[in-house]
Amino acid sequence: MTTQVGQFINGQQVAPQDGNLIDIHNPSTGAVCRQVEMASSARVQHAIDTAQAAFPAWRATPPAKRAQVMFRLKQLLEQHSDKICALISEEHGKVLHDAKGELQRGIENVEFACGMPQLLKGEHSKDVGPGIDAWCEFQPLGVVAGITPFNFPAMVPLWMWPSAIMCGNTFVLKPSEKDPSSALFIAELAAEAGLPPGVLNVVNGDKAAVDHLLEDSTIQAVSFVGSTPVAEAIYKKASENGKRCQALGGAKNHAIVMPDADLDNVVNALMGAAYGSCGERCMAISVVLAVGDEVGDALRVRLSQQVETLKVGAGCDNSNDMGPLISEAHYQTVANFIESGVSQEADLVCDGRGLSVEGYENGYFLGATLFDHVKPHMDIYQKEIFGPVLVMLRVPDMQSAVNLINEHEYGNGTCLFTRDGEAARYFIDQVQVGMVGVNVPLPVPVSYHSFGGWKRSLFGDLHAYGPDSVRFYTRRKAVTQRWPSANLREGSQFSFPSHS
Ligand code: NAD
Repeated sequence: MTTQVGQFINGQQVAPQDGNLIDIHNPSTGAVCRQVEMASSARVQHAIDTAQAAFPAWRATPPAKRAQVMFRLKQLLEQHSDKICALISEEHGKVLHDAKGELQRGIENVEFACGMPQLLKGEHSKDVGPGIDAWCEFQPLGVVAGITPFNFPAMVPLWMWPSAIMCGNTFVLKPSEKDPSSALFIAELAAEAGLPPGVLNVVNGDKAAVDHLLEDSTIQAVSFVGSTPVAEAIYKKASENGKRCQALGGAKNHAIVMPDADLDNVVNALMGAAYGSCGERCMAISVVLAVGDEVGDALRVRLSQQVETLKVGAGCDNSNDMGPLISEAHYQTVANFIESGVSQEADLVCDGRGLSVEGYENGYFLGATLFDHVKPHMDIYQKEIFGPVLVMLRVPDMQSAVNLINEHEYGNGTCLFTRDGEAARYFIDQVQVGMVGVNVPLPVPVSYHSFGGWKRSLFGDLHAYGPDSVRFYTRRKAVTQRWPSANLREGSQFSFPSHS
């Protein structure tokens, strides 16, 4: 019988009871590997109520004590990393070594959370007036929610809830229904690490569960990561309902290759950044802007040679470079984009369609695809494809490349390949993108910086994880205090208090 996945509420697994089960597929085989229950409205409410009930005691728990749970969680995540990576790979399809990288980046967010008492100290000013002291303190919001995408099923939840609960909040997580098992298992590990019941709850579902979270008046803030149309809709609805919201959306990340760049390094970097995780990363490089035809011609030859040697296959085989796409439907979407590129007369250099992996004939495999001579009006340039499709445009100079990036609707990540420090400095200053690399193709900020794009890659102000997460998950309270003594007594003052 297929294993059925339920919810995690009040510190324990809640087996499916409501009957609304959907299939989870192993993308490498196409077979159903589990079923997950879409939580009923009553079940989502139960999770919210449980988080609310856990809030007062957790809020009163000293931050250093909360941090001890994070230290133990870090150990447990490392101890169980093989199991977590196997779950990620089985449900998402990414190759195990890539899942390991994902988990490691998630663990770094837990490490950051271990040190968060330092960031919760507040700010203090003595003697702002005669006998008057002032300070700001950071207070938790209450119950907050996180809604996460399929492509980093373990890491993106770890961007959110460790910081949120370290700030004293309690949490309801709604992971992607396509691959929820690693997030659920990590919630169990958090309980084993000593997290009190109710502080972290996980409910499974789709739009219905999300709508419930957005409409419930208990939920104070929502962190979302996913596609731009959903991010925008969630940001609007959460804001209308008076909630704080950060909603991270899609991307179309450009790399500029300058004539002076080290092409061996560039080709290796582009291969990993474009085709790693089958292109299903919000920081994947999906556009390369070749400055000059000489660079374009060289990249075309070298990239297509490397595509020939790329090893595509099942996620469980660590010798593979790239696994399958997440679903049959997504395979079709990406294949349709390739077709649209052909019909809009882009130059298809490598065509990943029609790939069959021996022993895995029902998997959702699409080979690495490369287009050259792409024009800005084409759909394969304008839209996020989220698959192993790299498109190359040729531009006459760096300014034209920067203009293209700045005109694009997305602004998540970008990279400049060059040996010219002056060009790099200009690029960093001028480019309208939130995360910028120089000879670093995936400039994902480390856990003690924050992650976020510009333009339609982020709705809201504060970025995810790192120092911004403390601001997002807390409310400031500014206190001004005086203890009157006999010689400080004053009469009534009717002018506005000032120093003069
Ligand atoms: P998605 O938007 O389809 O789903 C994300 C989450 O929202 C899931 O939990 C899903 O159940 C829920 N959801 C889906 N449709 C909804 C709706 N209509 N109303 C309410 N909730 C809904 O995204 P995905 O396909 O899971 O993930 C891929 C997308 O995420 C890509 O666009 C990628 O660029 C983006 N992404 C962005 C970042 C970032 O940091 N900017 C990181 C990872 C992924």
